[in-house]
This record gives sequence, C-alpha cells and structure tokens, in this order.
Amino acid sequence: MQATYGISKVYMGRLSKGSDLYNGLFEVIKTKEVGMGIVYGIGALERLVVAYYDQKAKEYRRMEIEEPVEVLSLTGNISLKDGLPFLHAHIVVANELRAMGGHLLEGSRVFAFEYQILELEGPRLNRAYDDETGLFLWADK
Ligand code: ZN
Repeated sequence: MQATYGISKVYMGRLSKGSDLYNGLFEVIKTKEVGMGIVYGIGALERLVVAYYDQKAKEYRRMEIEEPVEVLSLTGNISLKDGLPFLHAHIVVANELRAMGGHLLEGSRVFAFEYQILELEGPRLNRAYDDETGLFLWADK
C-alpha cells in the first residue's frame, strides 16, 4: 500500500528536561490534532526505554538503560489506530561512540530534546492487526 501527501505544517519545539520522550511528543500530537505526520528529533536522554521485536516469537522485548545517551536520530510516523492518532517511533542513541536503539516506548527521560513534526494533508492511514507479522500495520483499503 502507498499514499501521497502534502506537508501542511511543520511544528518545531523542545521538550523540557525530565519529561518523558514518547509522552511529550504524543502530547504535542494530541494538542495540535495531528492525524497524519512525520516526526524527527535529536537531543540527549538520561534514560532510554525501547523494545526489540522478536520476529519468531512475535512479541516485543523491552530493554532499558539508565545512563546518559546522545540521541543521534529519532524518526517516526503518526497515523491512526482505532480511529485515534498513534505515534510509531524508532530511536538511535549513542553512549560515547557506541550506537544502539530500538522501538521507542514510554519511560525514556529527556535531558534535552528538539523535535520537528510535519503535519500531512492526504488520506488517513489506519493500523490493523496483520496476522503474518503479528504487528499493527497500515491496512490496505
Ligand atoms: Zn517499531
């Protein structure tokens, strides 16, 4: 499946120190009522919580580290799940030179974070359970 979009707005902002990365981004999305979008960001975290999707077991494995890391890249998308905005984001961080990352979960604590949220104009994509992967993927219309 594929759809075409135009960019209607770009929100640039900063999350405050000590805030939750996922929830902080989601708060902006809810407040601005972004139904379809692209999310980018860079910064630093005091704590990282991500998941790795085990393709055989078809389940997420949660991982966390309680140490300062640099956010080299956060990239994600906003679409709908059960009719409500849903943020799916992945993150790459580095502890000095070593990179690591995963599927962003709630619980990552911001040291400093700058985001760009691109609001899109076009068809709304809805997530639906996909039996083959065990994931909630964009449904074919
Ligand atoms: Zn993911």
